[in-house]
Amino acid sequence: MRGRRAGKALEIAGKEGNMKAKIDETCIGCGLCPEICPEVFRMGDDGLAEVIVDEIPEDALDSAREAAERCPVEAIEIVED
Ligand code: SF4
Repeated sequence: MRGRRAGKALEIAGKEGNMKAKIDETCIGCGLCPEICPEVFRMGDDGLAEVIVDEIPEDALDSAREAAERCPVEAIEIVED
C-alpha cells in the first residue's frame, strides 16, 4: 500500500516546535514521572529521575506535560527547543 505520508506528522510536529523535557536539581526521586510518562522519563542509578529522549515524541507530549504538572516539587519543565 502506498500513499501513507510519514511527512505529515513531521509537519504538524514542526509547527509546534520540538519539545524537550528538563529536570532540575530539586527532584526528590518520588518516581511519579516515569510512571506517568515512561517514554520520556526514567529513574537513574542515583535514584533521581532523568530524561531519556532528546525530543519528546509527539504522542508522549500530553503525558509528559501531565508528569510536569503532577511533579510534587515542580522539577520538570517542558520547553520548546
Ligand atoms: S515527579 Fe518530580 S520529584 Fe518525582 S521523580 Fe519525577 S522529577 Fe523527580
